[in-house]
Amino acid sequence: MRTGIATVCLSGTLKEKMQACAIAGFDGIEIFEQDLVTSPLSPEDVRKMAADLGLGLDLYQPFRDFDGVTPDLLKANLRRAEAKFKLMSRLGMDTILVCSNVATATIDDDALRADQLAELAQLAGDHGIKVAYEALAWGKYVNDYEHAYRLVEAVDHPNLGTCLDSFHILSRDWDTAPIENINPEKIFFVQVADAPKLSMDVLSWSRHYRVFPGEGQFELAKFMGHVVRAGYTGPVSLEVFNDVFRQSDVDRTAVDAMRSLIWLEEQSANWLADAPAAGTVPGGGAPRRRYPMELATLPKVNEPAGFNFAEVKADDTAQLEKLLGQLGFAFEGRHRTKDVQLWTMGQARVIINEQAASHAEPAIAALGFDVDSPVIASARAQQLKAPVVARKVQAHEEVFQGIAAPDSTEIFLCQGSPDGTAAWTHEFGEGLQHPSAGARAVIDHVNLAQPWQHFDEAVLFYTSALALEPQPFAEVPSPSGLVRSQVMQTSDGAVRLVLNLAPVQQAHGQKTYQEHIAFAVDDLVSTARAARDKGLEFLQIPANYYEDLDARFDLDPGFLATLQELNLLFDRDADGEFLHFYTATVGSVFFEMVERRGRYDGYGAPNAPVRHAVQYDSLHRT
Ligand code: MG
Ligand code: MG
Repeated sequence: MRTGIATVCLSGTLKEKMQACAIAGFDGIEIFEQDLVTSPLSPEDVRKMAADLGLGLDLYQPFRDFDGVTPDLLKANLRRAEAKFKLMSRLGMDTILVCSNVATATIDDDALRADQLAELAQLAGDHGIKVAYEALAWGKYVNDYEHAYRLVEAVDHPNLGTCLDSFHILSRDWDTAPIENINPEKIFFVQVADAPKLSMDVLSWSRHYRVFPGEGQFELAKFMGHVVRAGYTGPVSLEVFNDVFRQSDVDRTAVDAMRSLIWLEEQSANWLADAPAAGTVPGGGAPRRRYPMELATLPKVNEPAGFNFAEVKADDTAQLEKLLGQLGFAFEGRHRTKDVQLWTMGQARVIINEQAASHAEPAIAALGFDVDSPVIASARAQQLKAPVVARKVQAHEEVFQGIAAPDSTEIFLCQGSPDGTAAWTHEFGEGLQHPSAGARAVIDHVNLAQPWQHFDEAVLFYTSALALEPQPFAEVPSPSGLVRSQVMQTSDGAVRLVLNLAPVQQAHGQKTYQEHIAFAVDDLVSTARAARDKGLEFLQIPANYYEDLDARFDLDPGFLATLQELNLLFDRDADGEFLHFYTATVGSVFFEMVERRGRYDGYGAPNAPVRHAVQYDSLHRT
């Protein structure tokens, strides 16, 4: 698959964008007109720079508002087009994107449109240029890709073809199957973009909220599957207008973009392997068809089986040790060669890492996940351009395969075991062999605060490298703003990550975001009682909350009193019940204990605003 990206996706100057695209490994780029117009580089400079960087200049775009116009306007449009064709010769480019008219079209007549496009194609042919005509989702008269293609067919000129853009097609819910009926020689270009499902006008949605494949909710593998089946072999190019990407680091966004295409290529190959070809019977055992476009795949991984450990880094560990002890964790000893402690409760393992703690204050630094094969999972992540994290190991110590997540949390891919033990625990203390006795517990979920400029990147990272499934995102009110919350989880819920958009830092530089690790136990009330007896500082829940709880759920008075006495929060839905409590925060970390009753699958979302408000209050009191 030939990969491409439009310069409009990225921040910086044209030169910076081109360099970033080359470094990220793209085959070619689309030059967005404004990037050239505002550049001090001459067209010849751009041509030479692209050649030196090994980048193809695959598409010049956009040329707007050409068709369906009055004769006078047509004349002016052809003159405008010829100027661009001459410019493209200087750039050494041969394909231009022409969008369906959104503004100046006054005549809704396909015969007239075809005549005008034929004139354009003729002129383009004289200059050795190919015109890729694209139906914009908000085109005045042409807004459907099949309509655009009918015009291309009617004109029947070698210099006129169509451009398929996943956003314009999927935002309108057009059926993608008829793409297979398009003559592949007439598909001059393919653009891909993903987007969250939003209900707003399609123009604003397109200009601000497009994201890279895997970061939104469109069925892009299916779209691409139909494109591949049509026989298309040209560039597959990202065209993503996004307010965040246009102001974040250009090199990093280019890598995120490349990751999205590598992932999409694999997903498209998977879709083609699973979906029955037109006219065949599902599971009929027909030999797999080969298509002209070759799709690369990646080492396959299954979703992780569970959390292996969570690691908190801290210079000053006293408060953390106290908290874990009060929650019922057992200290299993120090590592034999490193400044690292292990604390466990059941199968929940927490490492306190005192080495090279970059924050004096405790912060979540690493997560371990149980995978089938750490080596294969690591190879996959690296092919998806995840940065490798190296850990110093001594002889006979477990070698961890590590990668860095976009928020710089270190992710370790660990060998899972059916009984939930971890082989590396014997490196600690006296040589622990078995999970500790006492309460059964597992890591239920981990909540990580994401910097605003890396939020979408994080969704793609966990989807592509770790096979977690993004759930519909939610917005939680807090005193410092709405917190965007995105759950990423495995199908069985054994691994749950909650990505929260961190609020912008306060003026006085105080770190205002907080992250937490939640542990699930069988009996939360007795866990809370034992913790209280050991002096645990609970997050104090206001009395108003319990009045509201009673109004909503009509709880047994004794049970309600217990909840209030222990600062427990409660939720109930059709699947079951959820009890939980939070500890006070140390550094940027706090802990949560949860009990899931029945098949309750959520996180106590109705209680999140209470938690945010109480934490805000305690932060601003001190
Ligand atoms: Mg487009
Ligand atoms: Mg939670």
